[in-house]
Amino acid sequence: MKLIADLHTHTVACGHAFSTVEENIRAARRAEMLVLAITEHGPSLPGGPHHYLLGAMSTIPAYIEGIRVLRGAELNIISSSGKLDLDQDRMSRLDLVLAGFHAGTPYPGNGRDENTQALCSAMENPYLDIIAHPDNPAYPVDYKEVVQKAVTEEIHLEINVSSLKTSHPGRENGRQNCLDFLALGKKEGLPIAVGSDAHISYAVGELQAATKLLDEVNYPPELILNYSREGLETFLEKRPERVKKKLESGFL
Ligand SMILES: [Zn+2]
Ligand SMILES: [Zn+2]
Repeated sequence: MKLIADLHTHTVACGHAFSTVEENIRAARRAEMLVLAITEHGPSLPGGPHHYLLGAMSTIPAYIEGIRVLRGAELNIISSSGKLDLDQDRMSRLDLVLAGFHAGTPYPGNGRDENTQALCSAMENPYLDIIAHPDNPAYPVDYKEVVQKAVTEEIHLEINVSSLKTSHPGRENGRQNCLDFLALGKKEGLPIAVGSDAHISYAVGELQAATKLLDEVNYPPELILNYSREGLETFLEKRPERVKKKLESGFL
């Protein structure tokens, strides 16, 4: 399986990555990506960017050297009620919003029940598109509940390439956790997204560890957000409508 987009990458602006927008674009071209999402961390991560930076993401052009650029963020879930660490106004100006649990943030993380509740509540946020690294063993969740909620809320669970690297400390069970939620996802029609979580240009567009896993489990391509240009463009076109509908139902 070959994917057309890397939907999770960082630049120097996030405070702990090593490459620039220009370097990541060049790397995306080398990896034959058509779309690149730049998803900087939320402000409550230690050393993370100020929220002004996330408010300024739109200064990055939507197309650079033929690559479609999605100006996004990887926010932090900071409470058990699923609160994300960016205001609604700034969130509304982003093309793509990821969120997940991260060490060092205010989220207390008191175990599986609380993590599941936090993740499921976060998925009700109208602006959220993707749950970043839901496989993280440091934040165990009930995948049955999480998958059901994701299907209902039309949220993608991420296959995070960085989690699949055995060299990533603390993510040793990442692969098995991905297999667990993919097995449920196949039955339930769970939408998923793939991201490198690159913190340096050399990792941008390097999605083979994830595509290998998806091939192994025979995951339906139509459920993979970055499988085809048309599928991704349709999602982006329909996105404002989904946000509006959820806002009207009174989430925020
Ligand atoms: Zn992350
Ligand atoms: Zn990340």
